[in-house]
Amino acid sequence: MNETGETPGKDFIRQIIADDISSGKHEGQVVTRFPPEPNGFLHIGHAKSICLNFGVAAENSGQCYLRFDDTNPVKERQDFADGISADVRWLGFDWGDRLTHASDYFEQFYAAAVDLVQQGKAYVDSLSAEQIREYRGTLTESGKDSPYRDRTIEESLDLFSRMRAGEFADGEHVLRARIDMSSSNMNLRDPALYRIRNVAHQRTGDSWCIYPMYDFAHTVSDALEGITHSLCTLEFEDHRPLYDWILDQLDLAHRPRQIEFSRLNLAYTITSKRKLAQLIELGHVSGWDDPRMPTIAGMRRRGYTPEAIRDFCSRAGVTKKEHLIQMGSLEFSVREDLNVRAPRAMAVLNPVKVVLTNYPAGETEMMTAANHPGNPEMGERQVPFTRELYIERDDFMEDPPRKFFRLRPDGEVRLRYGYIIKCVDVIKNDAGEVTEIHCTYDPETRSGTGEVQRKVKGTIHWVSCEHSVVAEVRLYDRLFSIANPGAASNEKDFKEYLNPDSLAVREQARIEPSLKNLEAGSSVQFERLGYFVSDKQDPTIKHPVFNRVVTLRDSWAKIEKAQGSPRPGGRTSITN
Ligand code: ATP
Ligand code: MG
Repeated sequence: MNETGETPGKDFIRQIIADDISSGKHEGQVVTRFPPEPNGFLHIGHAKSICLNFGVAAENSGQCYLRFDDTNPVKERQDFADGISADVRWLGFDWGDRLTHASDYFEQFYAAAVDLVQQGKAYVDSLSAEQIREYRGTLTESGKDSPYRDRTIEESLDLFSRMRAGEFADGEHVLRARIDMSSSNMNLRDPALYRIRNVAHQRTGDSWCIYPMYDFAHTVSDALEGITHSLCTLEFEDHRPLYDWILDQLDLAHRPRQIEFSRLNLAYTITSKRKLAQLIELGHVSGWDDPRMPTIAGMRRRGYTPEAIRDFCSRAGVTKKEHLIQMGSLEFSVREDLNVRAPRAMAVLNPVKVVLTNYPAGETEMMTAANHPGNPEMGERQVPFTRELYIERDDFMEDPPRKFFRLRPDGEVRLRYGYIIKCVDVIKNDAGEVTEIHCTYDPETRSGTGEVQRKVKGTIHWVSCEHSVVAEVRLYDRLFSIANPGAASNEKDFKEYLNPDSLAVREQARIEPSLKNLEAGSSVQFERLGYFVSDKQDPTIKHPVFNRVVTLRDSWAKIEKAQGSPRPGGRTSITN
């Protein structure tokens, strides 16, 4: 069972497709598409749609198009399109030669629109945008016909061709479908099909000054590409009658079927390109690939793997029910994946010095450490051990509680892959801060020698003062302080709920020397601390930079308990 209570593998969409194949509909073909608008970067919600569309195509030996819905040149950019392609590829999907653009079909859309006018199914309206809004009516009140609704076909054809020829200013005319101004479905009250936009398009340049509306372009594109199952999110449910109406009027080679599923909503974050763009514009995050962003680019830089994201999407399931998925669920997938693939290493994030008073100065011993406890094939490495070491400041307490099994005055602890040490003295500065911990080591207790040894309760990690390398380590926390910052019912703007502590930087962390030249994007488990990934090179920072991917244990359970919301894997309903 997955989070939404279904058996994975046959969600309702896969069931429909299986039924269509067995009944021979669409000649048993499965053709899908992922249709992003290139007006921003993709987020985790899009990942669900990508996994679904490319997934069902692959499972049924079908095909999936990556189609850019580039019908609004004002908001769209080529670099967004490039970023989107890179993200889809990184997630592990291949569109082959099926990379298309709605703009590839501008000529066909125009011809389809002319066809509708010729059939008397569309007309050029000359009301202003504001008047059109007034005439449309409301949910409780029927709309009324535009005075231009009964224009002759010839007049509409003439105006439409002159719209195309650039004779008019923006908003002077629109092409509308002639359906039903009193329909209970607002989308059928003579929706606009084309509008005038005297702007250049990123791909077609100045060839066009009229652009098709999304519903029209999307439906005709689906039919032209032979899409069999057009999968989209629930907000398009009310648009389906229009989708079907357009297909009914036009003589197109294919008849796709639109099927809606619920959006993926992730707790403590937002999945809206528009809102994510605001965070960037206002400087709350560093860009689309800020590791706190729920974008695919951000998650990649955060060290999430494509495998983990795909696993998460598959466990999230496909349903028609709106729900909010807990962040713990995504992190669970990330941990499961990194546990297998990430080598282990030692790093000290908040160092305090330990001096082994009975260890010879100037000597370096190489300690053998396994790169992965469960996978000998990942090999071993040598970690230098010296008289002066760093340990984690909070692994020492002068006056610890009873169950503290780390280092304390007169107490013993094992150094991972090293010796048992005993604290004999504590050096402090004038402010009373511990600056050095003096210990003795027991030479009879070196790890891995196979001799019978005594045992101590605690084992802590360490690095050599002399051989370790300074690193900057960035610790991320949730971006928002409430579970559903995007909910329409919230009193304040979503940005008011940003978590001021979403990033903590440890500029003077120390890492073992084997990590010095790690390639950007390599993940590693810092023992006892969590999974980390080496960040891309930043010319302004001279040290290696590591991002924390995820802690070793689920820290969300505690947060959710404190906030009274369900544990990871549970569900809450949402309002937006
Ligand atoms: P946004 O609101 O973030 O701009 P969008 O729906 O406008 O999202 P598109 O680029 O139009 O963004 O989306 C491309 C595809 O991804 C569409 O088929 C859309 O239904 C799907 N999609 C977008 N958001 C989600 C989500 N949260 N969960 C599942 N699918 C989504
Ligand atoms: Mg959209």
